[in-house]
Amino acid sequence: MPSPLGHTAIGLATHALYCKNRSILGSWKLLVFVVVLANLPDLDILFGLIFSGNGNAFHRGMSHSLLFALGMGLLSTHAWRCWPTIPRLNFLWCFLLILSHVLADAVFTNAPVSLWWPLEASRIAGDWGWSEVMNSVFTGAFQDIGVVFGFGLIIMISRLFKYGATVPVIRGLVKVKTSSISKNT
Ligand SMILES: [Zn+2]
Repeated sequence: MPSPLGHTAIGLATHALYCKNRSILGSWKLLVFVVVLANLPDLDILFGLIFSGNGNAFHRGMSHSLLFALGMGLLSTHAWRCWPTIPRLNFLWCFLLILSHVLADAVFTNAPVSLWWPLEASRIAGDWGWSEVMNSVFTGAFQDIGVVFGFGLIIMISRLFKYGATVPVIRGLVKVKTSSISKNT
């Protein structure tokens, strides 16, 4: 699985693309929501550990589905009504952050997700205890450095497009290429 760190990086890239790179650093509350929503589906591991001592008991089931992303997206959008300190969140933003987790699990791992739950329900076989889960969270963070780097690159490229910096960069590259061609001819 992508680790919590990997899912957070994917969530930040989703935010950058959806919000056309409006910086999230100015709002720590939004940053917290990116981290929470991008990792929300993996709460099924915690439930499995608490209720049956096996992190795989419910893992990759209902919480890794389109329906869950829609439902929790809707709940998150209305959370400010219960806790006024919570910012009003856009439904599509919440939905896409949760969905980014499900799609990342589907793309970057071999174990299936239950995208169309309740029409399909996947489950990972085998026991996954507390120590194995903790170990996997920390070792996964190291393994996900490539994911963090890749999605960091996506954020940087989208920022370049936002500020129009790509145009001078491309012009510079074209200039270098044409000057080297004219030297060679
Ligand atoms: Zn997951």
